Amino acid sequence: MDVYQNIQDNKYVNKLDYPTHIKIHVCVSCSFKQSQINWTKFCPECGYENTTFEILNKDFKDQRKKYGHETARLWQQFKDDIEEEFRTKDNPKKDKLFGLAERFSNGSGYSEILDYYSDLVELVQ
Ligand SMILES: [Zn+2]
Repeated sequence: MDVYQNIQDNKYVNKLDYPTHIKIHVCVSCSFKQSQINWTKFCPECGYENTTFEILNKDFKDQRKKYGHETARLWQQFKDDIEEEFRTKDNPKKDKLFGLAERFSNGSGYSEILDYYSDLVELVQ
C-alpha cells in the first residue's frame, strides 16, 4: 500500500462527469427550442414572447446522487488505505486522528491530509 503513489495516480479522484442541470427554452407558440445561453426574449422563429422549459436530462438527480456516492466511496477508500498503510485500522482513535489530519489540511487536498496524518500518527502508536 502506497497512499502517496495512489494520490499521484489520481486514484481518489472522481472520474465521473459532474452532472449539470440541462434546461432549454421552448417557445409556447411554435415549439422552437433554444439553449438557455442563447435565449432572447422573443422567439427567433415566430417572435412570440412566452417560453416554457424543458429539462433534457430527467435523470439529473440520479446522476448527482451517483456522483455523490462515488465521491463518498473514494473518500472511504482513501481513509481505508491510509489506515492500512499506517496500521491504525484497529486503533480506537483512528477516526479522531483522521479527523484532525483532515481539519489541519484545511481542505487543501489528499496529500496534505496524508502529511498531517503521518506527523500525527505517532501520538496514537
Ligand atoms: Zn416560436
